[in-house]
Amino acid sequence: MSHYSLKQLDGGALQLSSEAVESLSAALRGEILTPDSSHYDWGRSIWNAMIDRRPGLIARCVVPSDVRAALDFAREHRLLVSVKGGGHNVAGNAVCDGGLMIDLSPMRWVRVDAERQVAQVGAGALLGDLDREALAYDLITPLGINSTTGVAGLTLGGGFGWLSRRFGLSVDNLLSADLVGTDGQMLHASEEHLPDLFWALRGGGGNFGIVTSFEFKLHPICPDVFAGLIVYPLSEAASVMRQYRAFAADAPDNLSVWCVLRQAPPLPFLDAGDHGREVILLALCYSGNPDEGDALIEPLRHLGTPLGEHLGRQPYGAWQTAFDPLLTPGARNYWKSHNFKALDDGVIDSLVAATSTLPSPHCEIFVGQLGGVINLRSAEATAYPHRDVEFVINMHARWETAAEDKSCVGWARALFDALAPAATGGVYVNFMTEDEQARVGNAYGPNQRRLMQLKQRYDPDNLLRMNQNIRPDSEN
Ligand SMILES: Cc1cc2nc3c(=O)[nH]c(=O)nc-3n(C[C@H](O)[C@H](O)[C@H](O)COP(=O)(O)OP(=O)(O)OC[C@H]3O[C@@H](n4cnc5c(N)ncnc54)[C@H](O)[C@@H]3O)c2cc1C
Repeated sequence: MSHYSLKQLDGGALQLSSEAVESLSAALRGEILTPDSSHYDWGRSIWNAMIDRRPGLIARCVVPSDVRAALDFAREHRLLVSVKGGGHNVAGNAVCDGGLMIDLSPMRWVRVDAERQVAQVGAGALLGDLDREALAYDLITPLGINSTTGVAGLTLGGGFGWLSRRFGLSVDNLLSADLVGTDGQMLHASEEHLPDLFWALRGGGGNFGIVTSFEFKLHPICPDVFAGLIVYPLSEAASVMRQYRAFAADAPDNLSVWCVLRQAPPLPFLDAGDHGREVILLALCYSGNPDEGDALIEPLRHLGTPLGEHLGRQPYGAWQTAFDPLLTPGARNYWKSHNFKALDDGVIDSLVAATSTLPSPHCEIFVGQLGGVINLRSAEATAYPHRDVEFVINMHARWETAAEDKSCVGWARALFDALAPAATGGVYVNFMTEDEQARVGNAYGPNQRRLMQLKQRYDPDNLLRMNQNIRPDSEN
């Protein structure tokens, strides 16, 4: 009889008989991948190529009862568990070494009720899946800016993108969630039903159970937005950002303007000679009447001498894929992130200096504009607490080979340190890397205590610990 060696919660190894694994397999509509399966390497790979972990088993779940069977199996054998939605998280917690990876990516469905303006979304759906189905009815909910990110992980951390200043975070539009509790119970959480759990799901990450589907409120939207890019040379970036800061302060909630500092990609509207040159890109999306967008953003065209621009009316669904080519899977990635209430001159100067020493052509700095409707709620309204943040700045170190690890990670850390004095000290849980356990308290902020109490109630054994972990109250 052959055995499988699996890692347990306490780090010990458990030898499981092939009969035990076959019994789990027989209980699923989906499939079990073992290290011998032909597509095991495909099954364990995620967006960030820095993460190279080898689960003992992968349960590819198709329906909620698969998730329950896999979680029951893990609890019974005290196995280390990881949960994969879209597999985009930079920390790589979707994959565990030696334990049971519960892969929800086959649950990639979306159902829109246009009359009620509501979408039901499977836990494996990607942002593009939800956008596509909702936009078919000229409806939308705010998500992130990259169509291949998973709805599940994004939502459980908060979720923001081009429409969040207008409609709030993804969690502000979450109506309910179905989940499998860590004791195997099938749960439904909403404002009316298990409201404490529903509160915790809206920003507390994957700490409280495995969500099998989400229900979102949808908003009517003009299917076309006014969107695009304006590109300035890095030599003008300090001045451009100071003027951008003033423009952003008065921007309406239905306009979001983000800055990207990096080497210019080979964009067709730039001269070939400018490809690879350090630049600042203003990326903007206006979701009001697209015919009014041109006049509204006019000042942004005159912040210096642009190298080029590509602006105009386009389908929102197309704009949602605009950054996909820069964010494809398979590269090595290391991120650092800070929240800001304002961009002071020192921050701007540090961003410009760091852009002149990019260690790889793939590295970039993102300045995301938040505020608007997001900040109308209190820090305690949902588990996501950062309701006073106007800008989030991400140092996206991204490169190709292990030989570049040190210089690229070092670049992100150095900029992070330089920006720290001006930052709020808080961090968005979804932008944290695997080496940031010391910052977990900064992600949950004033809500951490309540989250620990709820963790005690819903996961007292900390079965779900492959995440930005909230420890049960009794462990603290
Ligand atoms: C290229 C890129 C662009 C991004 N852009 C944005 C953006 O614009 N806005 C934004 O807000 N964020 C953005 N993010 C961050 C993103 O929100 C997080 O990486 C998020 O965790 C991705 O979710 P996922 O399901 O793809 O990830 P996964 O890696 O599959 O999951 C992340 C974690 O979430 C938990 N989890 C996932 N599914 C479930 C579930 N069903 N039940 C319980 N726990 C679960 C697990 O702990 C898991 O480790 C971006 C990330 C990338 C890589």
